[in-house]
Order: sequence, then structure tokens, then C-alpha cells
Amino acid sequence: MKRYVYFFGKGKADGNESMKNLLGGKGANLAEMAGHPALRLPVPPGFTITTEVCTYYYEKKRTYPRELKAQVEKALAQVEKIMNKRFGDPANPLLLSVRSGARRSMPGMMDTVLNVGLNDVTVEGLIARTGNPRFAYDAYRRLVMMYADVVMEKAEGRDPARGKGIRKLMDERLAEMKRAGGFQSDTDLTTEDLKKLVAIFKDMVKQELGREFPEDPMKQLWGGIGAVFMSWNGKRAVEYRRIEKSPDAWGTAVNVQSMVFGNMGEDSATGVAFTRNPGTGENSFYGEYLVNAQGEDVVAGIRTPQPINAYSKNEQSKSLPTLEKVMPAIYKQLFDIQKRLEKHYRDMQDIEFTIERGTLYMLQCRTGKRNGVAAVRTAVDMLKEKLIDAKTAVLRVPPEQLVELFLPMIDPKLEAATPVIAKGLPAGPGAAKGRVVFTSAEAVAWAAKGEKVILVREETSPEDVDGMHKAQAILTSKGGMTSHAALVARGWGKCCIVGCAGLDIAEDNKSLRTKSGVALREGDWITLNGTKGVVYQGNLPLVEPDLNRNASYKILMALVDRMRVMKVRTNADTPKDAAQAIQFGAEGIGLFRTEHMFYGEGSDKPLFLLRKMIMSKTLAERKAALAELSVFVKGDIKATLEVMHGLPVTIRLLDPPLHEFVPHSADRLEALAQELGVDMAELEKRAEGLHENNPMLGHRGVRLGITYPEITEMQVRAIFEAAGELIKSGKKPLPEIMVPVTCTVNELTEQKAIVDRVYKEVCARVGVKKIPYLYGTMIEIPRAALTAGRMAETAEFFSFGTNDLTQMTFGFSRDDIGGFLPDYLSNKILPVDPFQTIDQEGVGELIALGIKRGRSTRAHLKVGICGEHGGDPESVKFCHRAGMDYVSCSPFRVPIARLAAAQAALEDGKKSAPKKRR
Ligand code: ADP
Ligand code: MG
Ligand code: MG
Repeated sequence: MKRYVYFFGKGKADGNESMKNLLGGKGANLAEMAGHPALRLPVPPGFTITTEVCTYYYEKKRTYPRELKAQVEKALAQVEKIMNKRFGDPANPLLLSVRSGARRSMPGMMDTVLNVGLNDVTVEGLIARTGNPRFAYDAYRRLVMMYADVVMEKAEGRDPARGKGIRKLMDERLAEMKRAGGFQSDTDLTTEDLKKLVAIFKDMVKQELGREFPEDPMKQLWGGIGAVFMSWNGKRAVEYRRIEKSPDAWGTAVNVQSMVFGNMGEDSATGVAFTRNPGTGENSFYGEYLVNAQGEDVVAGIRTPQPINAYSKNEQSKSLPTLEKVMPAIYKQLFDIQKRLEKHYRDMQDIEFTIERGTLYMLQCRTGKRNGVAAVRTAVDMLKEKLIDAKTAVLRVPPEQLVELFLPMIDPKLEAATPVIAKGLPAGPGAAKGRVVFTSAEAVAWAAKGEKVILVREETSPEDVDGMHKAQAILTSKGGMTSHAALVARGWGKCCIVGCAGLDIAEDNKSLRTKSGVALREGDWITLNGTKGVVYQGNLPLVEPDLNRNASYKILMALVDRMRVMKVRTNADTPKDAAQAIQFGAEGIGLFRTEHMFYGEGSDKPLFLLRKMIMSKTLAERKAALAELSVFVKGDIKATLEVMHGLPVTIRLLDPPLHEFVPHSADRLEALAQELGVDMAELEKRAEGLHENNPMLGHRGVRLGITYPEITEMQVRAIFEAAGELIKSGKKPLPEIMVPVTCTVNELTEQKAIVDRVYKEVCARVGVKKIPYLYGTMIEIPRAALTAGRMAETAEFFSFGTNDLTQMTFGFSRDDIGGFLPDYLSNKILPVDPFQTIDQEGVGELIALGIKRGRSTRAHLKVGICGEHGGDPESVKFCHRAGMDYVSCSPFRVPIARLAAAQAALEDGKKSAPKKRR
């Protein structure tokens, strides 16, 4: 018989940590904590219904496998035996929680129901047993609220307008009651109040949802189980998976667990903690708790959570008593448990615990989400502590997270001089600036218009994820370091400040006021320092951080460089970019685009000369223009070669279609006509002659060099002269001449003749015996990849231009994908945007084939990649497996590519010894 239910509790468990796919992350870890001989922690007993049941449920029209009921009943009996209580027993009722648990944690995305099993009869039993009617009614009113919200409203697919859901209505009713009694906190409500609330809530259920709250405990249990399965396809969960790129097919498990109560009085509490600081990586136990509270209270920001120890104090909580002070013995037990957990899992853990009348229970543990700074620091610290080895340390940091170490900071001088308008908790590091918006929907709308926004809310909920994703940063007035906003922002590496208590937000009015009296409206600029947790008014300039002062980063990257096989180069067109890339660890330039000098700052003169060349009609005219232009080309190339002393620089010959440079404005045309000594009519005729229907497939790249060999000649001469002169002055230039947009070896051989001739001339003229250089080509047309064996007869290196190669392999114009690619992605016709991550199935095949054929002609053919993909971790790993010598990417992504290359080598090494490459 197939097993759908796995028991855990009292030192035993059917499952374990390795069974995440089947039991979900939460279920697998509950089993591990309860049953592993090295742990055997106090976990309330329960059982996990597998993810396979979820899959079954959706495949078989929302039904369960026949065997399920009996298996659930058997496991429930096991739990009852341990707890010495019975589910639904009027005298001594067992209460249960029904919890979701996907493979990968989705904080707050799916729903949980607590206190299942309470009704008008069992509540009396609970009172009799505990002698605590206040607690019993508190638990009961929570059940009615959660059940109505999760099971009766959300899971049934009712979709009330925002703020009109049953939970919100009940919350309002609760607030009203507090106000009427003049109470500050939920805990001030009397037994009578709570009892009344239960009745009121039940009435509300009937009125709002048209059905009775089910009194039958079994009905409640199965309702809860079904609701968890339904929540897997709830709007929030689907959205979250889309952003996190988790497959929809995984399904969630359901964990049914006996309840323990943090709301039984002053000797009870509930909390969440991290084994290390997830914001900085510092090796200190860090967390928050609430006395006399249950479940979500800590995360929901209803009361200000208290610090578990002195280290965890912050601006809001600094005067509140710590768990260490209030319950020293429990704190010590918790401290020891978290140490054991970290040692057991060999990674930072995020834990949930509850204290019921002085007894500690563990409710959850999972690998703690951390920001990039903390990821690097914990990896390196744990290596030093001998908790993990060097390979694990390198594998543990997600390459993309390194970005967070290079996050901009506010210009320190200006920051020091700017008054702080509000202070909160630093939940996500780095700086960000943008215009204030107050709702997720506004954030989405403003961002769609290209505006940078900061989402400001009292607190965020899973409904806000879309807007949070679109915002530059998130700022909340309530909630602690473990609140929803903090968790989600941390996962994304987004700048975030939470618990900014001084902010008075009027969402309806689209405005806010700070304690100091600063008033802001929607659209006003603010700047956040997420590392410190402070807010400034206005649009402050941001600057880049100094990586050389991050010791952990330096240690990690030294390991990375030892472990990787592939080199990492950068795409850079200016000496400034080149110098910066060297700082980031670039080992050469993989793409220097000569046309860069015709764009942007300082381009006036060279652009004019280029235009003059383009508009030339005769060879003599063109040569004269080229001669003038060559001074600039040579100067530009020389400056970059000089910076890259001793490192290879791949210089691409002119690539774009000429008509891209034809001036449009009348006065520019006029000036050009004058310079060329022709009239406007003639000039316009020449410009028209350059018009193409499809310029990207037109007269560009090597085709220009074929029709105008003098253009190639000028560029090649500039390169050799620049290099020759640098050699004369004791420098070490290593130019690599790259011919773009080729499709046949004949193009390469024809251009090579020019290169050979000019080379000799320049050597003689400059007076050097030899200028080391390579001659090669971009492979960006499928035909070039297919005929790579021939191409390599002349080319000494290949650089895969994967932007164009993707364009031409798919037949997708990169500039026009906006019209259809979103549908391809949402309909899952393509798994990812092929312009971001190499399409291994198609484009990757061409690359693999090209490399194989190229190297069969020329064994030592040097191969690299220079498209946007060179900085995408998945693509970098593909390049390693394909046997490339290097990847090239923008300067900022160089460290990411280095780390991805090292991980690729390690992952590869698991299967076979890392391949030796030249
Ligand atoms: P999430 O995945 O959103 O964290 P959980 O299943 O962990 O959801 O549960 C939500 C809250 O309910 C948590 O604070 C958790 O500690 C609490 N909780 C869950 N099960 C129990 C239980 N058996 N006893 C007491 N509290 C519980
Ligand atoms: Mg949880
Ligand atoms: Mg190209």
C-alpha cells in the first residue's frame, strides 16, 4: 500500500531531512528535529501528508487517494496516545494545527489554521483541564477567524475586494471591542470579551459567508487539509512562485501537529530566531519573541516583539525585557538547541519556538534566508569555524547575491550633512531612492511608467508582493526584523527598512508625516539607507562601496579563483571601465566595441568624421575621411590597451550598419554637406541610398569591410600602431582582432589578407620585430557555428556573440520581443527569457557544435562568449561545461561570473575530475 502519511514525535519520525520533495521543507525538518538521534528535540507530535497527495488532489478533480483517510486516522491515534488527549474529546480535547509546507519555503504565502478541534463543547473541556477560560476563548476566537478566512473564504475561491475580507472585518470588530474597553493590547481583553467575540465571529461567518462555522472537529480537520492544498494555487502563492521561479507542479505537503500554546499566560510565549544575524552574517543568536501570544502574532506586527537577548535589541525594543532575563533557563535551553541545530545542518537556521507554561517546544527550522553580505560572511566564518569545507563555502553563496555587496551607498559626505527624517530597522541593506507610493498597485503602475518608487506601508502582506518586487525599496512603519516585509526583501536582496515607528501613514490620503513633522505626499522623493535603517527626504546621490574593505569577500574570492577553470573577462569600451573591471577581477577584455567612441560624451568630432566617411562617394573622399578618423580610433584603442597591460583585449571591428550614424537634424546635414563640398540634395540622395529595410540583417559587420576594405584597413592599422607604440614604450599590449557578423570562412580569409599586409607595414614603420596578436571572429550567425570547422582554418579564436546568435537562432528580434515574449513566459512555452539565460537546448547546441568543430580543426582554438549571457550564473555554468576558455561580461558582473565559474568547476568535479584546459 502506498504511504501518504508520515508520523513524527517523541524521539521518532518516519521521515527525515532528505525527504523535502515528498514531505515539503517544513515536514522534512520537523521529522529531522523530532527523530534524528543527534537532535531528538521537543517537537509537538504530528504527521505530514505528502506532496503526492497534493498532486493527486489537483489531477483527480479535488479528491484524495482512497487510502488517505485510514492513514490519517492511524497517525492521529498515534498522536493522541503520546499527548494523552483525544481529538474531539469533550473532556480532554486534543487540538491541532494544520500547516502548509512546500519544498522550498514560501514565507507566509500559504495558509495555516491553528486550534483545530475547538467547538462549543470541547472549549468547556479545555477550560476544565487548564483552569484558564481566558486562554480557551482566546484560542477559540482565533480558530473561528482563521478558519473563516483560510478555509471558508480563500480556499473556496471567494475573492472579496481588498480590505473587505472576513479576516479584516473580524479584525475591525476586535479593534472596536478594544476601543470600547479602553484597552491597548489584545491581551487586555477579558474572558467575557473573548467569549462574546467567538459568538460575534460565528455570526459574521453566517452573514458574510452564508454558512455555519463547522462544529464537528473532523470536519474542521479535513476542511483545513483541503484549504492548504487549495492555497497552493492561491493567487499569492502563484505570484510568489512566478517571482521565485519555483515550478507549479511541486505541490505542497500538509503538516498536522498537536498544538502547543504560547498564549497560556505570562509563563508562555512564542518567537522566531536566527542562529546568526541574517542582516550582517555576524555569528550571534538573534531573534524576537512575545509573551502570552500565539503563532502569527510575532510576525504580524500586532505588538512590538521583544528581543530574545541583548544582542537582538533595536531602536524600538531596546527597553523591553529579553527572554534571557525573563526566562533564563528556557533561554539557555533554546540557545543550546540552536547551536546543535546549526552544527547538525552546518548552515544558518531560522527557527520558530513556543513556550507553554515554562516548557519549550520547537515548531520549525529551516535554512535561514540571508542577504548577500551575510551570505558571504557566514560562508567564510563557517569555513574558519571548520563547520564546512572550502568547496561548500564557495558553493553556498548564490552568485547573484554578490550584487548586494556592490550595492550603492548614499554619498557619505552628503549623508552626514543631511538630517534623518525617520529611523527604523535595517531589514535589507544598501541604499535606494525613489518616489513615495502607498499601495502595491500604485507601485506597479508607477514602475510601469518607468518611475523609481519606494513602497511605503504600515506593514506588508503577501498581497503586496507584486508592488514590493517593482519598488526600489520597501519602508514599513510596523513589524520587526522577522516581519513579512523583512523576510521577503531579504530573500530578494532588496533595500528595506521596517518598524519605522515614527511614521504616521495616511494611506487614504496618500500622505505621511514623520515624528519630526516632515510631511510627504505620493510622488515625493525619499532616499533610504537600508544598512543603517534611516530615511532622508529628497533625492540624494548614491555612490559605489569599497570592496577592498570587505575581508570575507576577499577570502571567498581567493578561494573562488583557486577553484575555477574558466577565465573571466569584461566587456569594456573605455579605459575607465577597463580599470574598474580589473578591480573586480577581470582578466582581460572580451569585447571592446570600436563604435563606442561615436556615442555619448566626447563623440562629436569622431562622429562627424565617421559621418563624413559614410557620406563619401569616392574612394579618395573616403580615404581622406578615414585618415582623419584613424587618429581618434588609435587614441581610443591605445588608452585601453595601456590600462590592460599584459591582459588580452578583444577589439571588435566596426559592427553596426552605417546608416545608424547618418545624422537626422537639418543643421548637422548642412554642416556635413559643407564639409564634403556637395549640396543638400546630393547629400540627401546619399543618405537615402544607405536606407535598408532590415538593417540588423543588412550592410554591417564584416560586410562593410568586404565592400570597403579601406575601413578594415584603417582600424587594423590603428590597432597595430597603438600596440606597436606601446611595445616601444615598454608596455605589454595583447590585442585580439575580432571580425563580427561572419558567416563563411571566405570573409575571414579575405580580411586576413589586409591584416597581414598592414601588420608588416606597421612593424616596419614603428620599428618593432613583432606585435603579439590573435585574429579571430565572433560566432553569432548559425551558419558560422555550423561551419565552425572551416572558420577555424583562419580564425585563431571564437567569441560567441550570444545576443545575435539567440536572435538569429530563434528568429526573435531582440528589440521587438516585448510584444510576445511575456506570453511565451506566462504560458510556459519558453521556460526563461533566452536573452537572459542561454537556451541550452537550441542555441547551446549550436555553441557546443561550434566549439567541437572549431577545435577539431584547430586544437588550441581559444573560445569565449561576449553576450549579456556572460554574466548570468546559469549561462556561465553552461559555458564551463561547453569547454569555453573564458566568459566576458559587464564589469559589475565579473565577480558573479567568477563565482559561477568556480561553482561550475566544483559541480563538474563531483561527476568527474575537473577537465584540464589550456
Ligand atoms: P508559515 O509557513 O507561514 O510560517 P506555519 O505553519 O509555520 O506557517 O505556522 C504559522 C504560525 O503558527 C507560526 O508562528 C507557527 O509557529 C504557529 N504554529 C504552527 N503550528 C503550531 C502548533 N502546533 N502549536 C503552536 N503554534 C503553531
Ligand atoms: Mg513558520
Ligand atoms: Mg552582434
